[in-house]
Amino acid sequence: MQLRQKLRRFAKWAGLVVCALIVAVTVATLWCAVECDLPRLSVTLKAGGVYAFWVNPPYENPGPHGWAVNRSTPALELIPDFSVMRDRNGQGVYHATIPLCLLLVVVSVPTALLWRSDRRSRPGCCTRCGYNLTGNVSGVCPECGHKAWSAKHNRAPT
Ligand SMILES: [Zn+2]
Repeated sequence: MQLRQKLRRFAKWAGLVVCALIVAVTVATLWCAVECDLPRLSVTLKAGGVYAFWVNPPYENPGPHGWAVNRSTPALELIPDFSVMRDRNGQGVYHATIPLCLLLVVVSVPTALLWRSDRRSRPGCCTRCGYNLTGNVSGVCPECGHKAWSAKHNRAPT
């Protein structure tokens, strides 16, 4: 198997696993909030979204710092948001809300395209219509007329 094919295969399955993880995390965050607080950064997974804020010195995340898991009432946040508040010295607080369903779209679309394109180009089959070309010697698909391979670059599927 060529490196390119191996990478494609890896990307297909990795994409599928990441999609499944996003769905599982989204469902979990409907009832449960996971928070990680650091001196400059705070990231919270809750209500189907990622809430993050970053502060620059002299400001600091008041804390308490560390991990926290809290139960919450079922809720779903679907509106992305990004905001910056700056003082006169240009130091600021950055806030971002990223709905997990947006991440799901970003990951699932290329993953679906990879699965779809591989389904269409099975070895030994027409790259246009998927017709099985086993034993075909003309190089032309009898189903759709597509020139399936050129004798110069490829050999007939066996
Ligand atoms: Zn065909």
